[in-house]
Amino acid sequence: MIFTENIKEVGEWDILVAGGGVAGVAAAVSGARAGKSVVLIEKTVNLGGLATNGLINLFVPMCNGRGTQIIFGLCDELLKLSYKYGWTSMNDSWKNGYEVKNGRMVAHYSPAIFSLAMVELLRKEGVTLYLDTVLDNAVVNNGKIDGVIITSKSGREYIKAKMFVDATGDADLLYRAGVPTADGKNYFTYAAKGINKDTVKRYIETNKMHTMYRNCMGGTANLYGGNHPEGRKFYVGVTKEDVTEYITDNQMVLLENIKGMNPDEFDLTVLPSMPQFRTTRRLDGDATFTVDDAYKHKDDSICAICDFDRKDYLYEVPFASLVKTGYKNVISSGRCTSAIGYGWDVVRVIPPAILTGQAAGEACALAIESNKPIYAVDIKTLQARLEKNNVIIHFDDALIPKEQADEPKEDNGHF
Ligand SMILES: Cc1cc2nc3c(=O)[nH]c(=O)nc-3n(C[C@H](O)[C@H](O)[C@H](O)COP(=O)(O)OP(=O)(O)OC[C@H]3O[C@@H](n4cnc5c(N)ncnc54)[C@H](O)[C@@H]3O)c2cc1C
Repeated sequence: MIFTENIKEVGEWDILVAGGGVAGVAAAVSGARAGKSVVLIEKTVNLGGLATNGLINLFVPMCNGRGTQIIFGLCDELLKLSYKYGWTSMNDSWKNGYEVKNGRMVAHYSPAIFSLAMVELLRKEGVTLYLDTVLDNAVVNNGKIDGVIITSKSGREYIKAKMFVDATGDADLLYRAGVPTADGKNYFTYAAKGINKDTVKRYIETNKMHTMYRNCMGGTANLYGGNHPEGRKFYVGVTKEDVTEYITDNQMVLLENIKGMNPDEFDLTVLPSMPQFRTTRRLDGDATFTVDDAYKHKDDSICAICDFDRKDYLYEVPFASLVKTGYKNVISSGRCTSAIGYGWDVVRVIPPAILTGQAAGEACALAIESNKPIYAVDIKTLQARLEKNNVIIHFDDALIPKEQADEPKEDNGHF
């Protein structure tokens, strides 16, 4: 069957960011602050992605586990934004910058308030935002994306840009543009939120609003596949059938779990409004970040990061894990960064996802100014610009421990 339709062209921006999760928001802010016009396309009606719509509400550790903050840049700014108007579980030592002796730098936040605050931020930075708008396809000529087709209430439309950031978490843009990608696999996990008499009592005792919510689970598999039901398939999440099966299978388990609860004493208050996949599709980039990169300095580092699950471990994320030579004007970010195994786990959580987004936005601006393909931007200039915006590019060797505290982690089996 041949379909014909008129697709209207609706404008041209310097940078188009696909996906409004934390990585996309960071990319948009960083591109806008570098003086570029930016449009951000988000398929849901809220900003934040998994970190808000997915009901994940925890900035995992941004420190080395010994009192030193490692992750700064836009991540530090977004962390502060997350509690600008609401509560945070972060302790006062980290918050106010006085000496931290114990405990890692983690913070729970309110997904809803964080999401609203990100809208305010994008408005302040002059980013054009299209919500409830899906990036549908890419028009590519000679290794260069000319524009993308979006679908919204206005129908199907064509948007042009000079540079493109894939922050969809699913590498939708990279895949549609023909850039090499790789698939992952997911264990059976589903978390919703509810309240009951006990949690309300807990709230009254603690005076902390977040203690009022309890996790209500469908699948309960953890990061490493523990609790993944025997014989159940692994889900990839790149077809409508697989996505729907993953969500509805989980929802039916959740329903079973709440059947029989007393409706006068329990309410299921919120369901995630996007699939809670950890990994779907990611870039197969010029470099692939792995856990073996621990303690190695990278000439093309775009940020130093720590390990959310293990004290001491430090890494540098190579610029080459965001790009693919030959694809001139598209860059990856967030959980579609080119990475594998436990290394992927380290780089895709909220703090590093924000930093890769920040680097992607800045690299786009630099590529436009220097009239170079994105994979050929001058790394030293990019690093200098990121440093100017509070990103730590190389970790301090003095922080490498003499003796390793935590054992290396098992591969998560996601790939
Ligand atoms: C069960 C689970 C628990 C986790 N726990 C934690 C935790 O405690 N702490 C932590 O730091 N991290 C945790 N993570 C990981 C973390 O939440 C994510 O890796 C991180 O938020 C990814 O951010 P992102 O911006 O790269 O992608 P996403 O959050 O996936 O954002 C992508 C955005 O793009 C949009 N989008 C997708 N496709 C399109 C399209 N075609 N057109 C337009 N828009 C599109 C989506 O709607 C979404 O808003 C967890 C993840 C899962 C699944």
